[in-house]
Amino acid sequence: MKSETLPGTASFEAVLAEHGWAGLHATRLEIFQMNLGRLCNMACRHCHVDAGPDRTDQMMSRETIDNCLTALDRTEAHTVDLTGGAPELNPHFRDLVDEAISRGKHVLDRCNLSILLVPRFADLPEWLAERGVEVVGSLPHHRRRNTDALRGDGAYARSIEALRRLNAAGYGRGDPRRRLTLVSNPAGAFLAGKQCALEPEWKAALARDHGVTFDALIALNNMPIGRFLAWLQESGNLSGYLERLLGAFNPVTIAGLMCRNTISIGWDGSIHDCDFNQVLAIPAESPAGKVPHVRDFDPVHFQQRRIRTARHCFGCTAGAGSSCGGALAD
Ligand code: SF4
Ligand code: SF4
Repeated sequence: MKSETLPGTASFEAVLAEHGWAGLHATRLEIFQMNLGRLCNMACRHCHVDAGPDRTDQMMSRETIDNCLTALDRTEAHTVDLTGGAPELNPHFRDLVDEAISRGKHVLDRCNLSILLVPRFADLPEWLAERGVEVVGSLPHHRRRNTDALRGDGAYARSIEALRRLNAAGYGRGDPRRRLTLVSNPAGAFLAGKQCALEPEWKAALARDHGVTFDALIALNNMPIGRFLAWLQESGNLSGYLERLLGAFNPVTIAGLMCRNTISIGWDGSIHDCDFNQVLAIPAESPAGKVPHVRDFDPVHFQQRRIRTARHCFGCTAGAGSSCGGALAD
Protein backbone atom coordinates (compact mmCIF):
# COMPACT_ATOMS: atom_id res chain seq x y z
CA MET A 1 0.00 0.00 0.00
CA LYS A 2 1.46 3.38 -0.96
CA SER A 3 1.53 6.06 1.71
CA GLU A 4 -0.33 8.45 -0.61
CA THR A 5 -3.46 6.42 0.00
CA LEU A 6 -3.27 6.70 3.77
CA PRO A 7 -5.99 8.70 5.47
CA GLY A 8 -4.90 11.90 7.15
CA THR A 9 -5.27 15.58 6.59
CA ALA A 10 -1.89 17.19 6.07
CA SER A 11 0.70 16.96 3.33
CA PHE A 12 4.26 16.60 4.63
CA GLU A 13 5.57 19.13 2.11
CA ALA A 14 2.91 21.66 3.19
CA VAL A 15 3.87 21.28 6.83
CA LEU A 16 7.55 21.68 5.90
CA ALA A 17 6.66 24.89 4.04
CA GLU A 18 4.84 26.23 7.11
CA HIS A 19 8.16 25.98 8.91
CA GLY A 20 10.17 27.66 6.16
CA TRP A 21 11.48 24.59 4.34
CA ALA A 22 11.00 24.49 0.57
CA GLY A 23 11.15 20.71 0.49
CA LEU A 24 13.96 18.48 1.71
CA HIS A 25 17.33 18.49 -0.02
CA ALA A 26 20.42 16.37 0.38
CA THR A 27 23.38 17.45 2.48
CA ARG A 28 26.80 15.76 2.45
CA LEU A 29 26.53 12.00 1.92
CA GLU A 30 27.77 10.23 5.04
CA ILE A 31 25.90 6.93 5.28
CA PHE A 32 25.88 4.28 2.55
CA GLN A 33 23.05 1.94 3.47
CA MET A 34 22.54 -1.42 1.77
CA ASN A 35 19.52 -3.67 2.20
CA LEU A 36 20.96 -7.15 1.67
CA GLY A 37 17.56 -8.79 1.33
CA ARG A 38 14.24 -9.52 3.00
CA LEU A 39 15.19 -12.97 4.28
CA CYS A 40 14.95 -13.10 8.08
CA ASN A 41 14.76 -15.83 10.71
CA MET A 42 11.97 -13.81 12.42
CA ALA A 43 8.59 -12.44 11.28
CA CYS A 44 7.88 -9.54 13.66
CA ARG A 45 4.49 -7.85 13.82
CA HIS A 46 5.98 -4.36 13.51
CA CYS A 47 8.35 -5.22 10.61
CA HIS A 48 8.27 -2.39 8.07
CA VAL A 49 10.05 -4.38 5.35
CA ASP A 50 7.78 -7.46 5.46
CA ALA A 51 10.79 -9.66 6.08
CA GLY A 52 10.53 -13.30 7.07
CA PRO A 53 11.86 -16.84 6.66
CA ASP A 54 10.04 -17.27 3.34
CA ARG A 55 11.54 -14.17 1.67
CA THR A 56 14.27 -15.99 -0.26
CA ASP A 57 13.07 -14.26 -3.42
CA GLN A 58 14.62 -10.90 -2.53
CA MET A 59 18.36 -11.16 -1.86
CA MET A 60 21.08 -8.77 -3.02
CA SER A 61 23.27 -10.56 -5.60
CA ARG A 62 27.05 -10.54 -5.69
CA GLU A 63 26.91 -8.45 -8.85
CA THR A 64 24.79 -5.79 -7.14
CA ILE A 65 27.10 -5.85 -4.12
CA ASP A 66 30.02 -5.18 -6.46
CA ASN A 67 28.03 -2.33 -8.07
CA CYS A 68 27.51 -0.92 -4.58
CA LEU A 69 31.23 -1.10 -3.77
CA THR A 70 32.04 0.73 -7.02
CA ALA A 71 29.47 3.41 -6.12
CA LEU A 72 30.78 3.59 -2.55
CA ASP A 73 34.25 4.36 -3.92
CA ARG A 74 32.77 7.40 -5.66
CA THR A 75 31.42 8.88 -2.43
CA GLU A 76 32.89 10.29 0.76
CA ALA A 77 30.54 8.23 2.93
CA HIS A 78 32.29 7.23 6.17
CA THR A 79 29.80 4.55 7.21
CA VAL A 80 28.41 1.42 5.53
CA ASP A 81 25.10 0.48 7.11
CA LEU A 82 24.02 -3.13 6.46
CA THR A 83 20.39 -3.96 6.92
CA GLY A 84 17.79 -6.52 5.85
CA GLY A 85 15.83 -8.78 6.77
CA ALA A 86 18.71 -10.31 8.63
CA PRO A 87 21.70 -9.02 6.62
CA GLU A 88 23.88 -11.84 7.95
CA LEU A 89 21.78 -14.33 5.95
CA ASN A 90 23.08 -12.93 2.68
CA PRO A 91 25.80 -15.40 1.60
CA HIS A 92 28.13 -12.49 0.70
CA PHE A 93 27.73 -10.70 4.05
CA ARG A 94 31.21 -11.48 5.39
CA ASP A 95 32.97 -10.66 2.10
CA LEU A 96 31.12 -7.36 1.99
CA VAL A 97 32.08 -6.46 5.57
CA ASP A 98 35.72 -7.17 4.77
CA GLU A 99 35.53 -5.09 1.57
CA ALA A 100 34.08 -2.14 3.47
CA ILE A 101 36.60 -2.44 6.32
CA SER A 102 39.46 -2.58 3.81
CA ARG A 103 38.22 0.77 2.48
CA GLY A 104 38.47 2.28 5.96
CA LYS A 105 34.69 2.48 6.47
CA HIS A 106 32.85 2.21 9.75
CA VAL A 107 30.47 -0.75 9.35
CA LEU A 108 27.10 -1.14 11.08
CA ASP A 109 25.43 -4.53 11.27
CA ARG A 110 21.70 -4.06 11.93
CA CYS A 111 21.27 -7.34 13.74
CA ASN A 112 18.05 -8.83 15.08
CA LEU A 113 20.14 -10.52 17.84
CA SER A 114 18.39 -13.91 17.59
CA ILE A 115 20.33 -14.69 14.39
CA LEU A 116 23.42 -15.04 16.59
CA LEU A 117 21.89 -18.18 18.11
CA VAL A 118 21.61 -19.95 14.76
CA PRO A 119 24.45 -22.52 14.96
CA ARG A 120 26.24 -21.44 11.78
CA PHE A 121 26.49 -17.88 13.11
CA ALA A 122 27.83 -18.86 16.54
CA ASP A 123 31.24 -17.37 15.71
CA LEU A 124 29.79 -14.06 14.49
CA PRO A 125 30.17 -11.99 17.71
CA GLU A 126 33.93 -12.69 17.76
CA TRP A 127 34.22 -12.27 13.99
CA LEU A 128 32.50 -8.87 14.07
CA ALA A 129 34.48 -7.81 17.14
CA GLU A 130 37.81 -8.55 15.42
CA ARG A 131 36.81 -6.12 12.66
CA GLY A 132 35.41 -3.39 14.90
CA VAL A 133 31.94 -3.69 13.35
CA GLU A 134 29.27 -1.80 15.32
CA VAL A 135 26.32 -4.03 16.20
CA VAL A 136 22.97 -2.25 16.16
CA GLY A 137 20.71 -4.82 17.77
CA SER A 138 16.95 -4.55 17.69
CA LEU A 139 15.13 -5.26 20.93
CA PRO A 140 11.59 -3.85 21.11
CA HIS A 141 11.63 -3.58 24.92
CA HIS A 142 13.68 -4.52 27.97
CA ARG A 143 10.64 -6.41 29.30
CA ARG A 144 9.86 -9.91 28.07
CA ARG A 145 6.13 -9.33 27.60
CA ASN A 146 6.48 -6.31 25.29
CA THR A 147 9.20 -7.93 23.18
CA ASP A 148 7.46 -11.29 22.79
CA ALA A 149 4.21 -9.47 21.88
CA LEU A 150 5.94 -8.06 18.77
CA ARG A 151 8.37 -10.83 17.94
CA GLY A 152 6.71 -14.01 19.16
CA ASP A 153 7.13 -16.22 22.24
CA GLY A 154 10.74 -16.94 23.11
CA ALA A 155 12.16 -14.01 21.13
CA TYR A 156 13.09 -12.11 24.29
CA ALA A 157 14.99 -15.04 25.82
CA ARG A 158 16.93 -15.52 22.57
CA SER A 159 17.77 -11.82 22.44
CA ILE A 160 19.10 -11.85 26.00
CA GLU A 161 21.28 -14.87 25.23
CA ALA A 162 22.59 -13.06 22.13
CA LEU A 163 23.44 -10.01 24.26
CA ARG A 164 25.37 -12.29 26.64
CA ARG A 165 27.39 -13.63 23.70
CA LEU A 166 28.06 -10.11 22.42
CA ASN A 167 29.17 -9.00 25.89
CA ALA A 168 31.48 -12.04 26.05
CA ALA A 169 33.04 -10.88 22.75
CA GLY A 170 33.69 -7.45 24.30
CA TYR A 171 30.60 -5.64 22.98
CA GLY A 172 28.60 -3.20 25.07
CA ARG A 173 31.31 -2.43 27.60
CA GLY A 174 32.35 1.05 26.49
CA ASP A 175 35.01 0.00 23.94
CA PRO A 176 34.53 2.17 20.82
CA ARG A 177 35.68 -0.77 18.62
CA ARG A 178 33.06 -3.07 20.17
CA ARG A 179 30.09 -0.73 20.16
CA LEU A 180 26.69 -2.26 20.87
CA THR A 181 23.66 -0.06 20.26
CA LEU A 182 20.12 -1.26 20.94
CA VAL A 183 17.08 -0.12 18.97
CA SER A 184 13.65 -0.11 20.59
CA ASN A 185 10.18 0.29 19.10
CA PRO A 186 6.88 0.90 20.88
CA ALA A 187 4.75 -2.26 21.16
CA GLY A 188 1.60 -0.50 19.93
CA ALA A 189 0.08 2.54 18.25
CA PHE A 190 1.94 5.11 20.32
CA LEU A 191 5.14 7.13 19.93
CA ALA A 192 8.59 6.16 21.14
CA GLY A 193 9.44 7.42 24.61
CA LYS A 194 12.22 9.92 25.25
CA GLN A 195 15.50 8.28 24.32
CA CYS A 196 17.56 10.22 26.89
CA ALA A 197 15.25 9.04 29.68
CA LEU A 198 14.83 5.49 28.39
CA GLU A 199 18.53 4.71 28.01
CA PRO A 200 19.42 4.77 31.74
CA GLU A 201 16.20 2.87 32.54
CA TRP A 202 17.07 0.15 30.01
CA LYS A 203 20.68 -0.08 31.15
CA ALA A 204 19.64 -0.51 34.76
CA ALA A 205 16.90 -3.05 33.94
CA LEU A 206 18.99 -5.28 31.67
CA ALA A 207 21.96 -5.22 34.07
CA ARG A 208 19.74 -5.99 37.07
CA ASP A 209 17.58 -8.66 35.45
CA HIS A 210 20.13 -10.39 33.21
CA GLY A 211 23.60 -9.00 33.87
CA VAL A 212 23.95 -7.75 30.28
CA THR A 213 25.24 -4.35 29.14
CA PHE A 214 25.10 -2.16 26.04
CA ASP A 215 26.47 1.24 25.02
CA ALA A 216 23.55 3.28 23.68
CA LEU A 217 19.82 3.11 23.04
CA ILE A 218 17.95 4.35 19.97
CA ALA A 219 14.19 4.81 20.45
CA LEU A 220 12.36 4.74 17.10
CA ASN A 221 8.77 5.47 16.20
CA ASN A 222 7.09 2.69 14.25
CA MET A 223 6.49 3.82 10.68
CA PRO A 224 2.98 3.42 9.25
CA ILE A 225 4.14 1.12 6.47
CA GLY A 226 4.66 -2.61 5.88
CA ARG A 227 3.41 -5.13 8.43
CA PHE A 228 2.92 -2.43 11.08
CA LEU A 229 0.56 -0.60 8.72
CA ALA A 230 -1.41 -3.82 8.19
CA TRP A 231 -1.68 -4.25 11.96
CA LEU A 232 -2.83 -0.62 12.40
CA GLN A 233 -5.54 -1.20 9.82
CA GLU A 234 -6.70 -4.54 11.24
CA SER A 235 -6.79 -3.21 14.80
CA GLY A 236 -8.63 0.00 13.89
CA ASN A 237 -5.70 2.12 15.05
CA LEU A 238 -4.63 3.66 11.73
CA SER A 239 -6.39 7.05 11.84
CA GLY A 240 -5.57 7.58 15.50
CA TYR A 241 -1.90 6.74 14.93
CA LEU A 242 -1.61 9.08 11.94
CA GLU A 243 -3.26 11.89 13.88
CA ARG A 244 -0.81 11.23 16.72
CA LEU A 245 2.15 11.55 14.34
CA LEU A 246 0.77 14.76 12.80
CA GLY A 247 -0.03 16.26 16.19
CA ALA A 248 3.50 15.56 17.47
CA PHE A 249 5.25 17.18 14.47
CA ASN A 250 8.50 18.70 15.73
CA PRO A 251 10.22 21.17 13.33
CA VAL A 252 13.52 20.83 15.21
CA THR A 253 13.90 17.35 13.71
CA ILE A 254 13.88 18.48 10.06
CA ALA A 255 17.52 19.46 9.66
CA GLY A 256 18.75 16.09 10.91
CA LEU A 257 16.46 13.77 8.93
CA MET A 258 18.49 10.77 7.87
CA CYS A 259 17.44 10.94 4.22
CA ARG A 260 19.53 14.11 3.92
CA ASN A 261 22.91 12.40 4.52
CA THR A 262 22.09 8.84 3.44
CA ILE A 263 21.84 6.77 0.29
CA SER A 264 19.72 3.66 0.67
CA ILE A 265 20.22 0.83 -1.82
CA GLY A 266 17.53 -1.80 -2.21
CA TRP A 267 18.28 -5.52 -2.52
CA ASP A 268 17.81 -5.16 -6.30
CA GLY A 269 20.18 -2.18 -6.62
CA SER A 270 17.47 0.48 -6.77
CA ILE A 271 18.42 3.80 -5.13
CA HIS A 272 16.19 5.44 -2.51
CA ASP A 273 16.32 8.35 -0.10
CA CYS A 274 15.80 6.05 2.90
CA ASP A 275 14.79 2.49 3.63
CA PHE A 276 11.19 3.55 4.32
CA ASN A 277 10.90 4.94 0.80
CA GLN A 278 12.53 1.73 -0.37
CA VAL A 279 9.74 -0.35 1.18
CA LEU A 280 7.14 1.93 -0.42
CA ALA A 281 8.87 1.61 -3.83
CA ILE A 282 9.52 5.36 -3.93
CA PRO A 283 12.81 5.72 -5.83
CA ALA A 284 15.21 8.62 -5.38
CA GLU A 285 14.80 11.44 -7.87
CA SER A 286 16.48 10.60 -11.17
CA PRO A 287 17.37 12.91 -14.07
CA ALA A 288 16.23 10.25 -16.54
CA GLY A 289 12.89 9.91 -14.79
CA LYS A 290 13.35 6.17 -14.30
CA VAL A 291 14.17 4.21 -11.15
CA PRO A 292 17.85 4.93 -10.50
CA HIS A 293 20.09 1.86 -10.18
CA VAL A 294 23.33 1.73 -8.23
CA ARG A 295 25.24 0.56 -11.32
CA ASP A 296 24.50 3.99 -12.84
CA PHE A 297 25.17 5.94 -9.63
CA ASP A 298 25.91 9.59 -10.32
CA PRO A 299 27.33 11.22 -7.17
CA VAL A 300 26.91 14.77 -8.47
CA HIS A 301 23.23 14.37 -9.26
CA PHE A 302 22.59 12.43 -6.08
CA GLN A 303 24.13 15.20 -4.01
CA GLN A 304 21.83 17.79 -5.60
CA ARG A 305 18.59 15.85 -5.47
CA ARG A 306 15.36 16.82 -3.81
CA ILE A 307 14.17 14.15 -1.41
CA ARG A 308 10.84 12.52 -2.17
CA THR A 309 8.50 12.67 0.80
CA ALA A 310 4.99 11.47 1.62
CA ARG A 311 2.79 11.14 4.67
CA HIS A 312 4.83 8.34 6.26
CA CYS A 313 7.55 10.99 6.77
CA PHE A 314 5.55 12.25 9.76
CA GLY A 315 6.88 9.15 11.52
CA CYS A 316 10.38 10.67 11.36
CA THR A 317 9.38 14.11 12.65
CA ALA A 318 7.06 13.15 15.52
CA GLY A 319 8.11 13.92 19.06
CA ALA A 320 11.88 13.79 19.44
CA GLY A 321 12.12 12.53 15.87
CA SER A 322 13.21 9.17 14.62
CA SER A 323 16.05 8.16 12.35
CA CYS A 324 18.47 5.28 11.98
CA GLY A 325 20.74 7.19 14.33
CA GLY A 326 18.02 7.72 16.92
CA ALA A 327 16.22 10.78 18.29
CA LEU A 328 16.88 14.08 16.49
CA ALA A 329 15.83 16.48 19.27
CA ASP A 330 15.66 16.44 23.06
S1 SF4 B 1 11.66 -6.44 12.28
FE1 SF4 B 1 13.75 -7.09 11.87
S2 SF4 B 1 13.92 -9.08 12.91
FE2 SF4 B 1 11.74 -8.64 12.69
S3 SF4 B 1 11.10 -9.64 10.75
FE3 SF4 B 1 11.65 -7.50 10.29
S4 SF4 B 1 13.80 -7.57 9.67
FE4 SF4 B 1 13.37 -9.49 10.77
S1 SF4 C 1 10.56 8.63 5.73
FE1 SF4 C 1 11.90 9.92 6.99
S2 SF4 C 1 13.95 9.52 6.24
FE2 SF4 C 1 12.51 8.81 4.66
S3 SF4 C 1 12.22 10.50 3.23
FE3 SF4 C 1 10.64 10.67 4.79
S4 SF4 C 1 11.51 12.05 6.35
FE4 SF4 C 1 13.19 11.31 5.11
